[in-house]
Amino acid sequence: MIDAVVIGSGPNGLSAAITLAQAGCKVAVFEANATIGGGVRSAELTLPGFTHDVCSAVHPLGVASPFWNTLPLADYGLEWIVPPVMVAHPFDDGTAAATVLSLEATAATLGRDGRAYTRIVGDVVRDWPQISPAVLGPPAMPEHPLSLAKFGLRALRSARHLSMSAFRNEPARALLAGSAAHGMMPLNHALTAGIGLTLTALSHIGGWPIPRGGAQSITNALVKYLASLGGEVFTGAPVNDIDKLLPSRMILCDLSPRPLLRIAGHKFSRGYRRALARYRYGMGVFKVDWALDAPIPWTAETCRRAGTVHLGGTMKEIAASERDAWEGRIAERPFVLLSQPTLFDPSRAPADKHVAWAYCHVPSGSDVSMLERIEAQVERFAPGFRNRVLARSITTPRDLEANNANFVGGDIGAGVASLRQFFTRPTWRTYSTPAKGLYLCSASTPPGVGVHGMCGYWAAKLALSRA
Ligand SMILES: Cc1cc2nc3c(=O)[nH]c(=O)nc-3n(C[C@H](O)[C@H](O)[C@H](O)COP(=O)(O)OP(=O)(O)OC[C@H]3O[C@@H](n4cnc5c(N)ncnc54)[C@H](O)[C@@H]3O)c2cc1C
Repeated sequence: MIDAVVIGSGPNGLSAAITLAQAGCKVAVFEANATIGGGVRSAELTLPGFTHDVCSAVHPLGVASPFWNTLPLADYGLEWIVPPVMVAHPFDDGTAAATVLSLEATAATLGRDGRAYTRIVGDVVRDWPQISPAVLGPPAMPEHPLSLAKFGLRALRSARHLSMSAFRNEPARALLAGSAAHGMMPLNHALTAGIGLTLTALSHIGGWPIPRGGAQSITNALVKYLASLGGEVFTGAPVNDIDKLLPSRMILCDLSPRPLLRIAGHKFSRGYRRALARYRYGMGVFKVDWALDAPIPWTAETCRRAGTVHLGGTMKEIAASERDAWEGRIAERPFVLLSQPTLFDPSRAPADKHVAWAYCHVPSGSDVSMLERIEAQVERFAPGFRNRVLARSITTPRDLEANNANFVGGDIGAGVASLRQFFTRPTWRTYSTPAKGLYLCSASTPPGVGVHGMCGYWAAKLALSRA
């Protein structure tokens, strides 16, 4: 008999499985897809020899994950590469703002906003050991209320409000706005300042690294370590009805509410079913992967040394693009998040060739192709880019959902990270459900979206404490 079943092999499912296996449980992971990893995989999406990240590419939360930092993942092949520039943010005049690992060096490029940057972002960097349990943990009474209150007062605001009040010039404002836009909400919504501040501060904590060989290396390391503890992963094994699983003491679902309801809805009270059905998914994502003949010819030299490039111009323009997607409109000039890993990891393409990954936010389930608009944004800051494209692969919101039931309508966050859904995801019960022994461990639980494994870790800790 096995002790625990985990449904889904995303980073949270695998982290839950590892936590259970470390406690001595016999664990089996069932994965619907033919390949392991959920939102953390790599594949030759364009041409032979070009390794693209199917979903996640850049991992500031992975390198900062308190749980993963306790695991011997380097022994199983995980190597983080920290690029010289974390995020570059080009402007139409050929200049670019950027973050590097050093807070001071970054602040020094921001002119008269440098001092405010050092104070506001620096507070998060300095207090990170006290703040991180709240940012990456389950809702709990804070151990360091003062540090958390200082962070919370800024974090609960909107990114727009914080950038406008704290900074006077576009570079600092746009840097914060670009990071805040990862949160997939309009920039005048509460909590978007917290998302922007946290991601910006992570530039100066562990950086915004990429794993050598691609995102798949993270999954492979987790699976190999799990195997060393006796855990097994079965692929091509969708769970369609929870009652058909092997008997076990605990079931942990790496699922968002909609797929959970599909396979286990009959186990729950009407009230809990209704609460899950009310859970709100957000905007979708349209993604492009390129095989390139040469690096992207950025006008701004800083962009040529950056792991991640944010293409959206001014804060106002980024805010408009996010609002459009949120309100069901197609942005003509979408905010584009771009990663260029082969500048730092040549193993992912044939000699002197490159890959690049980019996406923009679109209305949930949108069928509109954003390829032209995304490429126009790259051309805007890197004229001649299109001449370097050897092949492209696109992924629509519907493709994302078809590949992974968690990403409803292409929402890669597995649910909106609004004030209401941030601390009590997907309901006030967070990881537990009314069904005995059945838990949720996906990014639809705290602390939410991102490749860090903390949702899985906390869910497994709760399951173990109750078993
Ligand atoms: C295009 C894209 C870009 C992203 N970029 C980044 C990034 O750069 N950095 C970052 O930190 N995060 C990024 N993310 C988000 C990140 O990938 C997710 O937050 C993360 O993967 C969530 O992990 P998870 O374990 O909760 O679930 P998932 O990774 O969604 O894994 C869930 C797994 O469960 C499986 N499953 C579903 N239903 C069943 C079933 N019935 N039976 C069996 N198995 C099932 C799925 O196939 C999947 O493998 C990105 C996501 C996408 C899609």
